[in-house]
This record gives sequence, C-alpha cells and structure tokens, in this order.
Amino acid sequence: MAGILFIISAPSGSGKSTLVSEVRRLVEGLDFSISYTTREPRGSEEDGREYHFTTRDNFERMIDAGEFLEWAEVFGNLYGTAGSALQRAADQGKDLLLDIDVQGALQVMRKAPDAVSLFILPPSPQVLETRLRNRSQAEGVVQEDVIGRRLSRARDEMERLSDYKYALVNDQLDLAASEMRAIVLKERGEDGSSAKIASQCLTTPKSPRLQAALKSFDILP
Ligand code: ADP
Ligand code: 5GP
Repeated sequence: MAGILFIISAPSGSGKSTLVSEVRRLVEGLDFSISYTTREPRGSEEDGREYHFTTRDNFERMIDAGEFLEWAEVFGNLYGTAGSALQRAADQGKDLLLDIDVQGALQVMRKAPDAVSLFILPPSPQVLETRLRNRSQAEGVVQEDVIGRRLSRARDEMERLSDYKYALVNDQLDLAASEMRAIVLKERGEDGSSAKIASQCLTTPKSPRLQAALKSFDILP
C-alpha cells in the first residue's frame, strides 16, 4: 500500500532539518527523500546523506530526462526531488517526507493532491536572524549578504502559508517536534490526543501562536 506523502516547507534557518531529524527519531516508518542540489556542501554535510550534490550539467540532464517530480531554483542553486524516491517509498509502504521550498511544494500539491502539507515558521524575524547567524558561525562562515537574502525571502515564503494544511511555530524544539509527531499520527488515522494536537496546528483557523508569529513578520493573519 502506498504511504502518505508529507510536504514540508520552511524559510531557511527555521530549524526544519533539526525538527525533521527529531521527528524521525520519534516516529517509525518515515522515509526522507534526499534531494539533488547544485549547491556546495555546507559544514559537515555529506554527499548522499543531506543531499545528492551534483553539477548543474548533470542536474539539467536529469530535468531533460524527466527524472524530477519537482525542481526549483533557490538562492541561485537548483534543487530537485527525484521521482524514484516516491516510487521507492510506495514500494516499501513507507510514508515519505519531502523537505522542499514553496515553489516545489506547489508543484507537488498539484501533482499529488492527497499529499499532506506542513509549513514550519520561526517565531520571529529576530529569532530567525539569530539562528541563521549561529548556524553560519558554527560552519565557520558568516556571509552577511547570504543572511540578508534568506531573511527577506522568509517573509515572501510565509505569505504562501495558507496553501498548506498545517503550520508549526518552531519556538521550543520539543514542543514543535511533538506537534509534528501528532500530525503524522493523525494523518495515519490515529484518534485521541494526536488528533486534538494536530487540529490545533491547522492553518485554518489560525492558532494564537501562529497569528503572533505572522504578526511579528508584518504578515496579516
Ligand atoms: P533549516 O533546516 O530550516 O535551514 P536548521 O535545522 O539548520 O534550519 O536550524 C538552523 C539553526 O537553528 C541551527 O543552528 C539549529 O541548531 C537551530 N535551531 C533549530 N531549531 C531550534 C529551536 N527550536 N530552538 C533553538 N534553535 C534551534
Ligand atoms: P538549504 O540550501 O538551506 O539546504 O535549502 C535551501 C532551500 O531549498 C530550502 O527552502 C529547502 O527546503 C529547499 N530545498 C531542498 N531540497 C529541495 C528540493 O528537492 N526541491 C525544492 N523545490 N526545494 C528544495
């Protein structure tokens, strides 16, 4: 039986990778699609673990060969999800997480209307800037222009939040992870407390926490 496809988007630096690792530790049977990208590896990233790092030539060849379920250009680099990841998860009856940007998410929502979409927000622009800066420092490179570009793109992406079914504010990691776990369990058909927690994370109606995060970015809830 084919599993559930989860689409996860978040402005860069919101803590999506951290949260996804935590949730995969808490919930079994969640496969993660490793995207292809033309960007350079960052920090301790390894080819085949965080991403399949590849050249622009090879990426363009894959586009022409129709190998991508979706792809998009983000911050001047190409990123894409191989259609084979979907097939592999379906064959194994596993649920699959796609960590993709808003442009890619909209493409997948059109192609796979049953996919469950989830948007992760940072609690405020100040917190997002601190996280971006801390991560850059930990990786040994702080490029102000990169941080600035990521901050301004964050707001644009958050404008598309209403296209997603669920939204999480990644303020406290353990709270956000337990909410994401509840969403996965609810979508798998579990009732009770998971369903209640998941319903509080719907984008309609917006919870007070979600409204506060949007307001801090000057986005009308
Ligand atoms: P993304 O995948 O969204 O680009 P990362 O997972 O790389 O973001 O997280 C960006 C930075 O924020 C990292 O240094 C990470 O440790 C930190 N971080 C993530 N979630 C939280 C949280 N809830 N509270 C504090 N720091 C966090
Ligand atoms: P980063 O370079 O910080 O890892 O990711 C930058 C952005 O690219 C993030 O918004 C991330 O979700 C997005 N991204 C990663 N993989 C894919 C992908 O396969 N497709 C699309 N469309 N976006 C991706």
